[in-house]
Amino acid sequence: MNTMISLCPFCGGTVAQKSVLETVCGGGHTASIQMNILVCEKCSERFYSLEQNNRLEALQAKLENQQTEGLQPTGVSFKAV
Ligand SMILES: [Zn+2]
Repeated sequence: MNTMISLCPFCGGTVAQKSVLETVCGGGHTASIQMNILVCEKCSERFYSLEQNNRLEALQAKLENQQTEGLQPTGVSFKAV
């Protein structure tokens, strides 16, 4: 469950539940994951529950260990040089 925050501890703005696409990088890979998280409407600070935080960390660890099975390829990421 989300920690119930109604005001942003950083700027005092209103915090609302939003569906955002989180991007996680690791091991040269990039993966995105859709999540319902709390976002400050004023400073855009994002707040994660412990479970969501663990999920992102687990995904990052998988990428760093090149464990990309179970992840759906969505094309190749490029870097402009
Ligand atoms: Zn804020």
